[in-house]
Amino acid sequence: MNKVLDKNEIEMLVRRYLKETGVSLAKRAAKREYIVAANWKMNMTEKETKKFLKELKETDIADNIRVMIFPPYPYLYIFKEMLRYEKIAYGAQDVAKEEQGAYTGEVSAAMLGDMGCPLTLVGHSERRSYYGDTSEIVAKKAKAALEHQISPMICIGETLEEREGHRYQEVLKEQLDAVYAGLGSRISGCLIAYEPVWAIGTGVIPTLEQISETHKYIYQVLRSYGVAGEEIRILYGGSVNAGNVKEIGSVRHVDGFLIGGASLKAESFKHIIRLASEV
Ligand code: PEP
Repeated sequence: MNKVLDKNEIEMLVRRYLKETGVSLAKRAAKREYIVAANWKMNMTEKETKKFLKELKETDIADNIRVMIFPPYPYLYIFKEMLRYEKIAYGAQDVAKEEQGAYTGEVSAAMLGDMGCPLTLVGHSERRSYYGDTSEIVAKKAKAALEHQISPMICIGETLEEREGHRYQEVLKEQLDAVYAGLGSRISGCLIAYEPVWAIGTGVIPTLEQISETHKYIYQVLRSYGVAGEEIRILYGGSVNAGNVKEIGSVRHVDGFLIGGASLKAESFKHIIRLASEV
């Protein structure tokens, strides 16, 4: 006779399912799934979030596409409830570098892991420039996440001054080296988002040559750490929209997108998902 599970046992199974989904995200991504990720930043309301997810759940998502959404912390629970068995992954926009304790306002990786959250962003340029997240802090945050089976998406990128001063490779390498120093071979469990700071929210897009050359460079740096080619996933972020997604997506070593502004309206995000599946 089948045993009837009590509420705690069901909760435990669901948590295990969500954790396993999270652990395997980077591995699954290695199967050349194309990632379309949304960074909502400090936008959306509870009502808008529910409406957005309802619409997204009703959409057919092609097999080669993996959708990820990074909402504000208070809405993560909605994702947990509404996306239980969906192909859409979600994550936090940041995580504390400390394990626990007197750090008012912080949210630990253990807490995110507890609620079954499979992903987190770290090192977004807004965190680096407004909140002083250095590359060493970013590395510690990524390490904390991995210790709780949360896959970090590590954002890197140069400023306009660094690009124009031809120092962007140096800057990107410094950002990656710091993560490698903190994680060693576990860097292969991270997703990388290349986001030139000058392209974020500005409508300015690097040329396809610049994207191609920079993604190739990041790929080579990761390879120099011993990361296997098939494990490397480099997303492009910065003013991506329905008008440029196919062009950028066709560039070698662009494995997906991290999208801010154009991810806030379900219609526009769904359109981008559809176009990305045709790349
Ligand atoms: C971002 O902030 O991660 C981002 C890519 O923003 P936008 O698409 O609005 O440039």
